[in-house]
Amino acid sequence: MPQNQEMPEMNAYLWYCHDLAITYPDTITWPGEDQFVAEQQDYFSRQQSELSPACFYRPFDELQLSYAVARVKIHPLCPIAVKGGGHASFAGASNTAKGITIVLRHFDQVTPSADKRTVRVGAGNRWRNVYQELERFNLTVTGGRTGSVGVGGFTLGGGISFFSGLYGLSCDNVANYRAILANGSILDVNRNSQPELYWALRGGGSNFAIVTHFEMYAIPHAYMWGGTRNYTKQWIPRLIDFYVESGFLASSQPSASQITTLYYRDGEYTATVDLFNVNPEPSDMLFNTTLPQVPYTSDTLAITRQSQLAESNYLGQPDGLRQTYWTATYLLDQALAHFIHQVFEEETAALGPLDDLEARCIMQIFANNTLQAMTKNGGNALPIAGGEQPVIILNPAFRWQQASDDLKILQANQNLFTRVKHYARERALNVDYLYMPYASEFQNVLETYGPKNLDRLRQVASTYDPEGFFQTQTPGYFKLNGRVGW
Ligand SMILES: Cc1cc2nc3c(=O)[nH]c(=O)nc-3n(C[C@H](O)[C@H](O)[C@H](O)COP(=O)(O)OP(=O)(O)OC[C@H]3O[C@@H](n4cnc5c(N)ncnc54)[C@H](O)[C@@H]3O)c2cc1C
Repeated sequence: MPQNQEMPEMNAYLWYCHDLAITYPDTITWPGEDQFVAEQQDYFSRQQSELSPACFYRPFDELQLSYAVARVKIHPLCPIAVKGGGHASFAGASNTAKGITIVLRHFDQVTPSADKRTVRVGAGNRWRNVYQELERFNLTVTGGRTGSVGVGGFTLGGGISFFSGLYGLSCDNVANYRAILANGSILDVNRNSQPELYWALRGGGSNFAIVTHFEMYAIPHAYMWGGTRNYTKQWIPRLIDFYVESGFLASSQPSASQITTLYYRDGEYTATVDLFNVNPEPSDMLFNTTLPQVPYTSDTLAITRQSQLAESNYLGQPDGLRQTYWTATYLLDQALAHFIHQVFEEETAALGPLDDLEARCIMQIFANNTLQAMTKNGGNALPIAGGEQPVIILNPAFRWQQASDDLKILQANQNLFTRVKHYARERALNVDYLYMPYASEFQNVLETYGPKNLDRLRQVASTYDPEGFFQTQTPGYFKLNGRVGW
């Protein structure tokens, strides 16, 4: 076991690791061990994998997790990170160089209830595992569209699913959260037992508890329709028109959805449109637009299973590269959507073809049906819940190789964000809200929930975590005081 005689903080980290290792052997992995290296590499972004905690703690059950949370108070100099599926893109979100990282990977149960109305989903699962398990019962849940994404961070921040048009976000489809509070107690959180905490966990992120299991409403489901169409640069303006049209039509067929993505790779621009219908047939709504007239180079559209779509989405988004994700929200508007395209091209052209750069401008929509579904069961914590106008959820997502290119790429994203915000504000199209799962570390997500919701979230935090453990000792993600980082 490593020793450190010099730094008091480092000693605090090591004492805490030793404390856990003695109490629960086989839960700790130390720097230098193969399992430590494997855990460290098992993140989506290289920025997260570059961090080396004093140890990884991998509890097997709620008691072991609750012990760790209760004991960390005795080691106040030791911050902790919590890793669900490790898909947050920025350094420190779910790993740390200044403390220990608790890994939820052993919370990997996927258990349908006896009446098949709900499914108990362990918070350490990746969605691919959830779908594969549930397909044996012809069931599914409102999970992620990429198989490698984790259940925990996704669901606590919102969670856009193939089913969001019908049922809202993932967080709107949790009947009960099994949660470990800052004092180590283990609690069932549902609308009846703890209504305020239940509301806060629906989109308020990791500010209140560590969730061990999400009991989600089950959806009877076998096959769906979907895939990707590929386009050359010249058709992008027509695709932007389709994107806007589809947002205004979406409520007419809530089972269908689309994602329009602009790409910049090797100095070239291309685009894709992902089309989905959770029913096993092509979507009338999506084809009742200009889309059928836009020539494409290839497509993968087919009747398929959710697990297969989630797996093919994963193949395009491998782990191990440098990454940045950003987000913004606007009222859906055609001129604005074309302006986003223009600014994306200008900012990426200015970067040039950096080593292995792939810049994506991912354009999604929360249509009225999705916004309305966010209000069920007492509503969620997002300020846009119940809205009556469709909104653009913009998600610039860049990946690249060299750390020396970090600043240039972050600056390009900041420029894109600032320029489009300015345009949107001038035309009264701006919506302050930022979608947490896509936000960068430079974006103050919770402030955009608005004073009413933010005050209510702070009240919940002071009730369930009066000493502010989740605000100070788990500092790596979006906090209620606006801070992100260590
Ligand atoms: C390739 C890719 C595809 C994506 N696809 C989608 C999509 O289809 N829809 C969508 O909405 N989003 C999507 N996202 C965004 C995704 O939802 C976020 O990255 C999310 O944070 C991932 O969750 P995670 O558990 O894997 O991440 P982590 O990095 O492990 O966690 C993110 C944050 O949540 C905290 N956390 C995680 N689990 C828990 C828990 N159980 N209790 C308390 N805190 C916890 C962590 O401490 C961390 O701060 C995608 C992201 C990527 C990279």
